[in-house]
Parts: sequence; structure tokens; C-alpha cells
Amino acid sequence: MKNITVIGAGTMGNGIAHVFAQNGFQVKLVDISEKALEKGVATITRNLDRLLSKEKISLETKESTLSNINCHTELTDGLSNADLVVEAATENVDLKKNIFQQIDELSPEKAILATNTSSISITQIAAVTSRPDKVIGMHFMNPVPIMKLIEVIRGYSTSDAVTKQIMELSETLGKVPVEVNDYPGFIANRILMPMINEAIYSLYEGVAGVYEIDTVMKLGMAHPMGPLQLADFIGLDVCLSILKVLFDGFGNPKYAPCPLLVNMVTAGKLGVKSGEGFYDYTASRKAETISKQFS
Ligand code: NAD
Repeated sequence: MKNITVIGAGTMGNGIAHVFAQNGFQVKLVDISEKALEKGVATITRNLDRLLSKEKISLETKESTLSNINCHTELTDGLSNADLVVEAATENVDLKKNIFQQIDELSPEKAILATNTSSISITQIAAVTSRPDKVIGMHFMNPVPIMKLIEVIRGYSTSDAVTKQIMELSETLGKVPVEVNDYPGFIANRILMPMINEAIYSLYEGVAGVYEIDTVMKLGMAHPMGPLQLADFIGLDVCLSILKVLFDGFGNPKYAPCPLLVNMVTAGKLGVKSGEGFYDYTASRKAETISKQFS
């Protein structure tokens, strides 16, 4: 594998492009938005500069990484010689189905088609293509250049050969791949989201405050960040939509999203990206407890 096409230049897409390019792959980064591409390349450059200043990479590596990335706004320009396509566009089932129909038509027959979806069924995405055996989940974690894990998700029809290729490829990127099967939430979100939901329920029921809940989990369980702060960083809308996938997929009330989470999303309090969630991010990015709301 040499030629990688990454679709979507947002938070995850630019990180995925960065990691492949730094490891010597030729990357075509495709986004419908010119602005997203510019922002994506600016983020990659900033992250490379940080690595350079910490002496983790050389100036040559920075330059070769950037020269390995070419940007495109049209899928037709980015797919003709792809060995692997990694889709990291917006989390929306219809959008992803549409993209997969197009990349199935436009990319070489041998190309593997991967998706970075957090919660959409790989089997459902694969079903719109003519090559479901070559469709697989490559769930990178945020921030991609730093986080070691890749959750490799086998759809119902994903072949052993394709899974093996993606596991090996993930290792060449310096990552640790873990193979899981395609059920709602896979493993990462199936375990993480109920924990976050339970933290929100504890707050909603008045068992403890924001600071107390996060402190118990940070100092008591050695989590680097409390679950409420983590939810703010992920985005409360994203947490809600993944919980709905778990709830719908398993039909089990234990996954029902907490009414407080639903209310906060409805009110536009989405966490860091909206400036307010369980903490206030408006004055600075330092988390401040919104104590008036929850005391
Ligand atoms: P984002 O909103 O930052 O970026 C999405 C990008 O996709 C945007 O730049 C948008 O212009 C582009 N896009 C939309 N439609 C497109 C199309 N038809 N063709 C090409 N580009 C298109 O989103 P993100 O946070 O990077 O998430 C991307 C994917 O990664 C989602 O499936 C998400 O579930 C998954 N994911 C996100 C995280 C996270 O922490 N953000 C972690 C793991 C997985």
C-alpha cells in the first residue's frame, strides 16, 4: 500500500492524513470545503512544528510529511490510484452511504474502503458498495497523531485478508490496532458512553456536583480527565447521538440518554465547541464549573 485517500479534512481527517504522510505514504486529502482543507493543512503544520520544537522529528520529516499531502475538493481527483480510502467525513449515515457509493464507483477494484465512523454500522455502510468484503472500520482516536489505539472493526462481510492487511498497516503507522466486531458502539463507545451517561445521571439526580464527580473519577480511578469534562470535549451532541445508536441497536433501557443530556443539547450547550457544557469555556479554554446551574 502506498496511496491513501482521506475523505474529510476536519478534526479526524487532518490527523489521519498527518499520520499516514509522516510514515511515508502518499496522501490525497479530499474535502468538499476549500476552507476545511486550508484549516486542516494549517493544523498539520502546527502539529509538526510542535513535534519539531520538542525534537521528536527532524526538519526533513516535517517537510517530507507536508510534501506527501495533496489536497482536492473533488472525489474524482482523489481516488483514481487509491490503495486505501479512509473516510472521515461528518457523522451522518446518509452522507456516508452516499460517499461510499461514489468511492466504490471511482476507486480501483482492489482498493480497501475504510471508515472512521464512531457509531454507524460498518455492515450498513458496506451494503451500499459492490465490495463489502473490502469495507472495514478504522476507528482512530482524537488527537490522532498522539493516541495509540486504532479500533479495527470487521463488518459482517469483511474478509480475513482485508482485516489482516489493515491490522498490519496500523502497526506500520506506530499504532496499536485492536480487532472488534460490528455491533452498536463497537467496544470503545459501548463502554465509554454508558459511563459518561451514568456520570450525567449522577449529576441529574443530585448525588454529587460536576467537580465532585470528575474528581472521584480522576483521583480515584486514575482517569486523566473526568467523564463530564470528557463529554464536553467530545461534544454533548455527539455523546447523545452515540447513546441513541446504543439504545436503538440493543433496545435496552440501560442505554437511554439522561434527560439532562437531552436538555443541554436542545439548549445548544454542546461543550467546548459551543463554549459551554458542564464547564464554561468562554473566558478561556480552562474548564470552569458552571456551579450556578448545578449547585
Ligand atoms: P469534522 O466535522 O471535524 O470534519 C468533517 C469534515 O467532513 C468537514 O471538514 C466537512 O467539510 C467534510 N465533509 C462533509 N461532507 C463531505 C463530503 N461529501 N466529502 C468530503 N468531505 C466532506 O468531523 P470529525 O470530528 O473529524 O469526525 C469525522 C468522523 O470521525 C466522524 O465519522 C466521527 O464520528 C469520527 N470520529 C470523530 C472523533 C472525534 O473525536 N472528533 C473521534 C473518532 C471518530
